[in-house]
Order: sequence, then C-alpha cells, then structure tokens
Amino acid sequence: MAGEPLVLIVEDEPAQREVLAYNIRAEGYAVISAGAGDEALVMARETPPDVIVLDWMLPNVSGIEVCRQLKAADETRKIPVIMLSARSEEVDRVRGLETGADDYVVKPYSVAELLARLRTQLRRTRPAAVGEHLTFEDILLDMEEHRVYRNGQQVSLGPTEFRLLTAFMERPGRVWSREQLLDRVWGRDIYVDSRTVDVHVGRLRKALKTASSDTDPIRTVRGAGYALG
Ligand code: CA
Repeated sequence: MAGEPLVLIVEDEPAQREVLAYNIRAEGYAVISAGAGDEALVMARETPPDVIVLDWMLPNVSGIEVCRQLKAADETRKIPVIMLSARSEEVDRVRGLETGADDYVVKPYSVAELLARLRTQLRRTRPAAVGEHLTFEDILLDMEEHRVYRNGQQVSLGPTEFRLLTAFMERPGRVWSREQLLDRVWGRDIYVDSRTVDVHVGRLRKALKTASSDTDPIRTVRGAGYALG
C-alpha cells in the first residue's frame, strides 16, 4: 500500500505496543514502532511519520525528553506528537514543562478516543488521507468521490496521478524530491526507478490542462524535484 498516513508508536511495553499497532493498522494507517526513546528519535528522522504516539513512561530517555528533542530539531518539529500518560497529573506536568506535545491522552484510554485524536492531528498533516477536500487555486480534490476538478471541469486521472496530486495538494509549496514522491506515492518497500516519477508528473501536468485552464501548477525545481505552486 502507498499513500496511507504513517504513524510512529513509541512504547516500551511490547503488549501495549502490539495492541496500539493493531488498532491503528485496522484504521487503515501504516505503523512503525520503537520501544525506546533514542530509537524513536532516529526513526523519526530517517522515516518521518505523519504523527507520533509517544508514551510518557519509557526507560532511559523519557517521553518528555523525546518530545522535547523532536520539537527542537528542524526535521521533526512539525510532526504532531500525541503523548500518552498514566495519570492526569502527568498531563498537567507535561503541559507545564512545555514539551511542545500537540495533544495528550490519559491511560487507560479508549481506542475510539485515541483514533479520534489521531484523526484530528492528521487533518493538519495529511488532510486528504482523512477524507478532507483539498483545494489549490482552481483545482479541487474531492476525496470522498475520488474526483478532481479544475475550474469546475472534471479532470480524469489514473490512480498514480491521483495519488501524486494528493501528495502535492496536501502540502502546497513543499518541494518533493523524487525519492520522497516514490515513498509517498508508490510505497516505501517498492523499487521503482526515479525516472518513473518524471513520467507520471508529465502525465499529471497533461491531464491538468483543460480547455478553460491551461497554466501548469506544478513547478520543476532544478536539482531538487517538484512542487505545487
Ligand atoms: Ca511505557
């Protein structure tokens, strides 16, 4: 699968980690997990997730310290962090410590509650993945109907071009390298030549040219990749 939101779970207790991973996967998200804080920091840098579920109680490096380091580093500061804690007093302390956590869930939590919080965070980082409509200039991406309109006129796209446009529209202005687009659109475990990206960007550009709107919304960034707008 490609394109689904990636959730990093950080929890040292294997049973709890498994339950979390199971429930989050069942929601249709991809999951990676770490059992320790230092491992989580490396993972978040190497495979940036769309949201992090971080347990407060971790051996060695605590959840608070992990959060602080994530929010202090440029590569990871924008990744939303949901902190899990055993007691509500801990939540008060986390807030007081200004770790930068984006949300807090107190254990024992209901799975439904945690998933709702996840969706709230993903609405910011991966709006299309949680069914939000996206617009950019005269382009409308209707995730429910799986349709694209430009200037009110429906645009017909192949599945790869649709995922490509979704990635662009979730982060207008972001410069994507070919490798990043391969990870997002084709999947992390699939080997595809990076020139394939150029082919599909070409198809997407062609498809987006309609009778009423023929400007090219996709920018080629020399030596870097592609961006929308
Ligand atoms: Ca723990």
